[in-house]
Amino acid sequence: MNFQALAEHFAIVYSILTVRYVVLAGLAYLIIWKLLGSRLAHKIIQPDRPPKRKNFIHEIKYSLATFLIFGLVGVFIFESTNQGWTLVYKDVAQFGWPYFVFSVVLTILLHDTYFYWTHRFMHWKPVFKTMHLVHHRSTNPTPWAAFSFHPTEAIVEAGIIPIVVFIYPLHPGAIALFALYMTFLNVLGHLGYELFPAGFTRSKFTFWHNTSTHHNMHHRYFNCNYGLYFNWWDRLMKTNHERYHEAFEEVAGRERVTAPAPAPIAPASPGLNALR
Ligand SMILES: [Zn+2]
Ligand SMILES: [Zn+2]
Repeated sequence: MNFQALAEHFAIVYSILTVRYVVLAGLAYLIIWKLLGSRLAHKIIQPDRPPKRKNFIHEIKYSLATFLIFGLVGVFIFESTNQGWTLVYKDVAQFGWPYFVFSVVLTILLHDTYFYWTHRFMHWKPVFKTMHLVHHRSTNPTPWAAFSFHPTEAIVEAGIIPIVVFIYPLHPGAIALFALYMTFLNVLGHLGYELFPAGFTRSKFTFWHNTSTHHNMHHRYFNCNYGLYFNWWDRLMKTNHERYHEAFEEVAGRERVTAPAPAPIAPASPGLNALR
């Protein structure tokens, strides 16, 4: 494998990661923040602290830097697979579609656990400032914060795929689906707006899933709500913010305040009516 081919693979992976980020974070920003912004104003989780221009720049700058690390990891997986070292397989028929679906779900579940514990580690005082403070510079995050990591945190965040490809068979399509799901939920966690309905965190059907409020509170208070997709680990380790459910209901239950109907415009002059 020569250097030029490696550089080309890196450029391809970097471009895919950047496009994925710009499309998903960009759509969330465009649709929720811009197009529906005023109609959804009552769903803003922290209306008292709108992010400033410098926050957006910080989030985008570090996200683009993160993809340099993710790109290197992508090339590592690609080359390791070419050498036959990983369990990545090319033909879905080899293990069938049920296994394909199972492998995506398994990766999501493992990533949730991996994320929770590596996240707890990065909140450990000796490493917090170096590894994780960059991400916490956004105390009211925007969708652009989804990959706003210090390079050392980016290495940790990229870690799940290079681990699992050596443990169980994964199809490239399953990796792509997982990566898409991860990015979508990551953008949702940093959305800044709560779109789930009131009662979501207490319903027996949905209580296990996290919300935008959940991760937004992590950015606001730092020492709570460490989970990514699901609420299991925060419940088990009692790390949900003590007011998480109340805070969620407060936002999700807000009614849209519509401006009172404008008073009918009085005729500027007596006009024709006065002449009748
Ligand atoms: Zn975050
Ligand atoms: Zn954190």
